[in-house]
Amino acid sequence: MDPTYLVPVAQLMRDVPSSAKLVFSAPFDADHEFAPRGRAETDVAPDALVDVVLTLQSFSGGLRVTGRVSAPWFGVCRRCSAAVVGLSDVAVDERFVDHPEPGDEEAYLIENDAVDLAPMMHDAILLDLPLAPLCREDCAGLCPYCGVDRNEATCDCAAPHDVRWATLDGLRFADETSGESSEA
Ligand SMILES: [Zn+2]
Ligand SMILES: [Zn+2]
Repeated sequence: MDPTYLVPVAQLMRDVPSSAKLVFSAPFDADHEFAPRGRAETDVAPDALVDVVLTLQSFSGGLRVTGRVSAPWFGVCRRCSAAVVGLSDVAVDERFVDHPEPGDEEAYLIENDAVDLAPMMHDAILLDLPLAPLCREDCAGLCPYCGVDRNEATCDCAAPHDVRWATLDGLRFADETSGESSEA
């Protein structure tokens, strides 16, 4: 467990209500605590620095944690396969409790007078990662026939629409003229 994310909260829990502000940067997952993602998925490098700016406010039996976490991500453009990088900057508003009510699966746990902010940060960032990023909004992608990068060059391949209909027309024509002879 990355100790930077482990925050002692005994004082906050004793003085209700009270609050504390936290500002730090720490590696996303330098110890590889979290399950790896699929190779093709947008991801955050384990040693990428996460910026954390949070306020912890105590209430009877728990803490409300609000603020922002942000982390740089990398991925692959869904149209042209170029490398893409970006920044996830996520607002968080979560609860930590020392004795969760049955069925309260939304809350994180306060354990040993401390909160581990790493799972909360990890959840927030992963939910925010783009599933299919683009290198730019108007990326023209690759030609499906010759593979040329249409952002950088043009090609003479027919438009996909035209080719598909030409093929269908040819099939229909063949069916009508050959009739049952094609099955014999
Ligand atoms: Zn692209
Ligand atoms: Zn082409």
